[in-house]
Amino acid sequence: MADDLATRLRNLTTELMLIPGLSGYEGRVRKRLAAELAGLGLATRTDRLGNLIATIEGDAGAPSVMLFAHMDQLGLVVRKIEANGLVRVERLGRVPEKALPAQAVLFSIGEGRDIVGLIANKSHHATAPDEKYRVLPYAELYIDAGFDSAAAVLAAGIDIGTPVVYRPQVLSLAGNRLAGTSVDDRAACAVVLEIARALPGLRHKPTVHIVFSVLEEYNLRGAVTAAQMLVPDIAIQLDLILATDTPDMTARGDVRLGGGPAMSLYSFHGRGTLNGTIPHPALVELFNTTAAAEHLTLQRSAHVGALTDLSYVQLVGQGVAAIDLGFPMRYSHSALEVCDIDDLAGLTRLLLAGLARIGPDFNLDRDAFPQ
Ligand SMILES: [Zn+2]
Repeated sequence: MADDLATRLRNLTTELMLIPGLSGYEGRVRKRLAAELAGLGLATRTDRLGNLIATIEGDAGAPSVMLFAHMDQLGLVVRKIEANGLVRVERLGRVPEKALPAQAVLFSIGEGRDIVGLIANKSHHATAPDEKYRVLPYAELYIDAGFDSAAAVLAAGIDIGTPVVYRPQVLSLAGNRLAGTSVDDRAACAVVLEIARALPGLRHKPTVHIVFSVLEEYNLRGAVTAAQMLVPDIAIQLDLILATDTPDMTARGDVRLGGGPAMSLYSFHGRGTLNGTIPHPALVELFNTTAAAEHLTLQRSAHVGALTDLSYVQLVGQGVAAIDLGFPMRYSHSALEVCDIDDLAGLTRLLLAGLARIGPDFNLDRDAFPQ
């Protein structure tokens, strides 16, 4: 049974990682997720921004839950087509510039019409010593897709505004680990699908609105319209939690890849965003209690520099009790992010057991938590 879950999560995550879906262009991912939900017998609806929503009815007396993961990914947008057929791009999302040169990319034009290219890296033989350790700003980079004129680029369907993503790929690493494009957040989309599969069979459960959200990597606010429509009492967001078990990350925390699911106790991002999430104490207690009862390790994360669309969802209506749960992940926002399938399976079990504990008596009253 457990092995079935891990196998399904591996297959689903892999399949979802291979679908291009830049923020604002989530259509192909949404179509696939909607088909998966339809296969589970769940009706779906899509709001005007593109959020995909399915509701699983539960105990009407219990607080309602919005369980969500974002289906978009970061990438690039065509900014200028040079006369010689090389293509300049703009960033969409927090793209790490030092990880861009020599990467393969995909111009996402339409199913069967996508075009591969590569982000050029200056020939090493012509690189001066002082250039060797310099990170090129994205504006100095260009994409070579093999065309030798602007007319040829346009004729292939690439124009200003065309979305570009890392060329989708998945590598199976040792053990149960996967590397590839957009583990963030397709791995969590796979977990949400597994919850949608199992939840209808649970005797005790609250009403759960499944949401696959848009625009997270772009402006963090795509999920807000879904939350405004659903007005949930509780919001649970699933995303990566930074693994800190590599030499460059050890001072940042204590999250181990393969060490089990994790929850964020504190997130914040300044520099204009000025938002973050401090989880509702009832939800921290719920998942601590659930993890102990299920003999699952629940890792803890608290740091600034990152946040999710949950930060905006929590501000809807009279306030939504919120928590970020997730899976440890290495090398965020690079073309090869790494996760461990065992962590995804642990996260699925934690969520199912946790949701089953949200009944009519579940107390979200802040005064019940005097700290
Ligand atoms: Zn994410």
